[in-house]
Amino acid sequence: MRLLEFDYFEPRNLEDAVTKVREFDGNYQIIAGGTDLLTALKQRLSAPAGLVSLDHISSLKDIWEEDDVITIGAMCTLEDVLSSSLIAEKLPALNQAAWDVGSPLLRPLATIGGNICLNTRCRFYNQSSFWRSSRDTCYKAGGNICHVTNKRDSCVATFSADIPPVLIAHGARVRLAGPKGVRTLPLEQFYTADGRFPHVIMAGSGEILQEIEVPLPAPQVSCVYHKFRMRESIDFPVLGVAVMLKLGEKKSGKYCEDACLVITGAEPAPVEAVQAREELLHRRLEPGLLARVAEIAASEIHPIKTSLISPRYKREIAKIIVTDALKKAGGIEE
Ligand SMILES: Cc1cc2nc3c(=O)[nH]c(=O)nc-3n(C[C@H](O)[C@H](O)[C@H](O)COP(=O)(O)OP(=O)(O)OC[C@H]3O[C@@H](n4cnc5c(N)ncnc54)[C@H](O)[C@@H]3O)c2cc1C
Ligand code: SF4
Repeated sequence: MRLLEFDYFEPRNLEDAVTKVREFDGNYQIIAGGTDLLTALKQRLSAPAGLVSLDHISSLKDIWEEDDVITIGAMCTLEDVLSSSLIAEKLPALNQAAWDVGSPLLRPLATIGGNICLNTRCRFYNQSSFWRSSRDTCYKAGGNICHVTNKRDSCVATFSADIPPVLIAHGARVRLAGPKGVRTLPLEQFYTADGRFPHVIMAGSGEILQEIEVPLPAPQVSCVYHKFRMRESIDFPVLGVAVMLKLGEKKSGKYCEDACLVITGAEPAPVEAVQAREELLHRRLEPGLLARVAEIAASEIHPIKTSLISPRYKREIAKIIVTDALKKAGGIEE
């Protein structure tokens, strides 16, 4: 599969990158590590006039701690995340999620920014143009039919990135640079829940993800990421869950002071299981509670059959991985 022709730019600073993006008036793509984008371009899923690479902007490649916030530049590779002693010590769940992405060959190229900005996936979309030509062009690819729902103007493609659930569970914010200046917003607000344009940048804001700010977790906070995939060696998640627990101690045992459960691989955006959190709050962690919470979390996702895996199977997997993640985060022995 060959790439179509495009203009290629390598700005040396963020201001020049934002200017270049504005000049293209929507007909461009940002390229970071290219591990997802280049396949999409070869499959003719888009045909931008220009590619704006962030690879030569050194200010986007640092990880540092200041005022109880860990900041990670969008162009840090997953290998950078894995080799950071700061992240290993203070955000071990992020370390785990980075380890779970792809394979050792992918992680030195793949960036954390590219993972956060990852496009949604669907078995009718992530195919070559030859494969797709056997049926009408679907809505996400520019047509007016969805082969999953049969609706004309909506897309339910699935969000499957591993890193965002952990960042959301930690209360991370993203800093975006664009034509109207710089703004920060909670990561969960970055996502639109629209399978065709899954985040504000794809929805046309003209912005660039600059960095991610993660508040330093309190000492009583424990966060884990659990992923289930078909091939252990390399695969997107069938489902992944990040569980953050803030634990208190009473005579009767550990109890939950605060919690956040975020699931990827189920819907067009990461899903926060808010009812499961409610069930956990202020309760003692015991096996009956964890099983109940996992049941509730599984009922809060609404998977749609955008892959060969059935929604029912995903719900069963959710119960298992949420229970396991709760046990691990809660320090509960098997
Ligand atoms: C074989 C294989 C296996 C994979 N397995 C997994 C997996 O298990 N889990 C997983 O989560 N992913 C997986 N991926 C997807 C992908 O490799 C990773 O998500 C990776 O982190 C994407 O980062 P990148 O830098 O390569 O992004 P790119 O491919 O460069 O970009 C991805 C998207 O993000 C946009 N973008 C990138 N950076 C920015 C920015 N700073 N500002 C604005 N927009 C930006 C691009 O325009 C593009 O739309 C896999 C890919 C392959 C090829
Ligand atoms: S969910 Fe429908 S519109 Fe979206 S990619 Fe799949 S077939 Fe296309």
